[in-house]
Amino acid sequence: MPEPREYPGIGVGSTAAVGPCARFAAPPAAPADEPVPSGAEAIAAAGAALAEALEQVSAELRAAAAEHPGETLGDVLSATAEMADDPALADRAARIIAEGNGPANAMTKAVAEFAAMLTGIGGYLAERVTDLNSVRDRTVARLLGPATPGLRTIDEPAVVIAHELTPADTSSLDMTKVIALVTEVGGPTSHTAIIARQLGLPCVVRAAGATQIPEGALVAVDGARGSVVVAPDEATREAIVRRMERHRALATDTAPGATSDGHPIQLLANIGGVADARSAAGKAVEGVGLFRTEFVFLDAAAEPGVAEQAGIYREVLKAFTGRKVVVRTLDAGADKPLAYANPAHESNPALGQRAYRLVRSVPHLMEHQLRALAAAIDDCPDTEAWVMAPMISTAGEAADFRRRADEAGLGTRARIGVMVEVPAVALCADQVLQHVDFVSIGTNDLAQYTMAADRELGALSDLIDRWQPAVLRLVEATARAGAASGTPVGVCGESASDPLMALVLCGLGITSLSMSTPAVPAVRFALRHTSLATCRAMARAAIDAPDAAAAVSAVQELLDPRVREAMSLD
Ligand code: PEP
Ligand code: MG
Repeated sequence: MPEPREYPGIGVGSTAAVGPCARFAAPPAAPADEPVPSGAEAIAAAGAALAEALEQVSAELRAAAAEHPGETLGDVLSATAEMADDPALADRAARIIAEGNGPANAMTKAVAEFAAMLTGIGGYLAERVTDLNSVRDRTVARLLGPATPGLRTIDEPAVVIAHELTPADTSSLDMTKVIALVTEVGGPTSHTAIIARQLGLPCVVRAAGATQIPEGALVAVDGARGSVVVAPDEATREAIVRRMERHRALATDTAPGATSDGHPIQLLANIGGVADARSAAGKAVEGVGLFRTEFVFLDAAAEPGVAEQAGIYREVLKAFTGRKVVVRTLDAGADKPLAYANPAHESNPALGQRAYRLVRSVPHLMEHQLRALAAAIDDCPDTEAWVMAPMISTAGEAADFRRRADEAGLGTRARIGVMVEVPAVALCADQVLQHVDFVSIGTNDLAQYTMAADRELGALSDLIDRWQPAVLRLVEATARAGAASGTPVGVCGESASDPLMALVLCGLGITSLSMSTPAVPAVRFALRHTSLATCRAMARAAIDAPDAAAAVSAVQELLDPRVREAMSLD
């Protein structure tokens, strides 16, 4: 038996699995000795061959998309097909052929140029480079021969390991046989991570060197620890089996969220589109606490019409008939720029015209979205609709959002709220609350702006830690203002998905917690085994701690042993 060897990476989710490794074949590269066409006729023929290959790739991707209607994967495959259809890409490659390159090399060079551009823009667009590379690999494979790269059949349940796994690659896998995903590149918001989260699969991205693991080798993939261990010893394997049994047991409890002494706290789902909504609707959640509407339109070149938007919102609301759905208006900008909404260049996009602030430059976007929401809500009277705006900075902006919502006819159809993501709003929460029916705290951005640390920058993760007492104090100030005016105050940032933090938030007076659905059972369990008085004591201990690490330790001291055991990774 080989020695255990670990490949650390970035973990996604809280699950783990052990199984044989199935390596995803590397795509063929453009050959260095590819013949270079000479003469106008040969150059034109090479250009035509490339154009035909791109067309075939587009058709293949569209056919794959058609097999996943209404799912995120289908949307992403369609968006990837659009990249293959982009005339700018074909034109650039044709020019590179004319400069003295074979078609496969020309495609590779053209894609490298486009990829550099997307990487330069950063954020979500940078992550679309994976899709662009997938178009390149498929096109090069078509030019070189009949094989399509990476496609393979998995006969037995296996851990799929790839350098990079595009949505197109994923669509070629039988996901019922995949027990975990590992990639050498990608980030926590890459498609592999998104799909793994949606399916509740353990996943580790950025595991350098993982494709060196021999085919068929036994590997343990731990999403909570961010580790891939080859030839794991018996103790590691058994610990994973025990943990997953505990995990499954937690999910059998489907009661509404409440502390051990019955203090209610709603447990809600974060979603990014229709497919997410349908999948979350089948889970034990009391509704949706955050529908990130910008996720639906990230690949749109132009603003979708009111009717098209209303159709999407309707599907989401319909999935939650009898429950509550909190829709957030477009949070476009920073790491999620929308082609039709955001200014082309800002030196500090996170501090720029993003989210609600777009009413300054493109007010029609908000107007159209609110009208679309009003139409969708009319068609779904049995869903409790709440609508909120992100990145509000002043009470005046909250009043302005309320006015716009009323003008669109939403005032009588939905509860109107705003997000608390900017410290200024937490500090003036009493004034802001005079204009809205509820607020929801976005702890991801609240931490970023409180600590002046970019949330995308791993190197500053200690500053942006959700346990920073300064962030908790702003949550406390908001919750206190909510309690004084009887206004619901939810949390929909990542903090809500941490069972330990959920207890603190409950103790601070938060009324609902919204998170990705796989996180719900552990949070529910923690609340169910802790009294409101203990949650309050935990909140006090965390607020009074001198730093984030001390806050965690102080709360852990007060933790019920059953919750400690359920949360243990051993
Ligand atoms: C947040 O900032 O905490 C939040 C929920 O919004 P997003 O993560 O979409 O910016
Ligand atoms: Mg935010």
